[in-house]
Amino acid sequence: MTRMLIAGNWKMNGDISMANELARAIRQGGQGDKCEYLVCPPFTALPAVAHAIRGSEIALGGQDCHPELSGAHTGDVSVAMLNDVGCKFVIVGHSERRSNHDETNDVVKAKAETAIACGLKAIVCVGESEVSRDAGEALMVVGDQLKNSLPDNANPSNTVIAYEPIWAIGTGRVPSIEQISEMHIEIQGVVAQQIGTDLAKLTQILYGGSVNPENAPDILATEAVGGALVGGASLKAESFLAIGRSCP
Ligand code: PEP
Repeated sequence: MTRMLIAGNWKMNGDISMANELARAIRQGGQGDKCEYLVCPPFTALPAVAHAIRGSEIALGGQDCHPELSGAHTGDVSVAMLNDVGCKFVIVGHSERRSNHDETNDVVKAKAETAIACGLKAIVCVGESEVSRDAGEALMVVGDQLKNSLPDNANPSNTVIAYEPIWAIGTGRVPSIEQISEMHIEIQGVVAQQIGTDLAKLTQILYGGSVNPENAPDILATEAVGGALVGGASLKAESFLAIGRSCP
């Protein structure tokens, strides 16, 4: 059985010394835990964190990548560069990238496909706005986003989905367990249309949005939830590890 994935998205926080300390604390405290831990520090801290977790089971990931392999793209980072520094995963289509950088589903899909072609596992993020949720359109909006962002060659070993309702990110608000379950089953259905029911069931679907040690046990015990993508609570080793330890 696939282990649950507990992924920390450190976003644009901290410096190299903080990243180093956090990575070492997760390494030390997380030994023997049954979930798989993934840390996604800012680009500048990737080499330090790679060094800090070397030889452990903790995986390293990037928070974004460029859809092309190399070239004249000032300020961007390629999947080959992420590979080179030891990344095994890359987050694509986070709602902050979709809104701050106008990333479309096409761009997200291209990034995921390039990542997969270079041997990285793509974490494809989808999620509805509060307006869509209130209008009763959440399932439709997320289903649509996923159909158009999912890489053509997706399979359980190269793609992870992260359902992150935008209104739950960094707000302390989370959907009900029924809403999470309903959405994850819907996502599984969309994935099944592309790769078949059996493979869809094996594809990990993370929940993200204000996950903390208190709400994690219920969220992680929800049907079709394969782990968590954690923002704020991943910046403290104790809370990140407590989430990991609440995996059923
Ligand atoms: C995120 O942005 O990926 C996230 C889940 O953030 P938070 O846990 O802080 O809501």
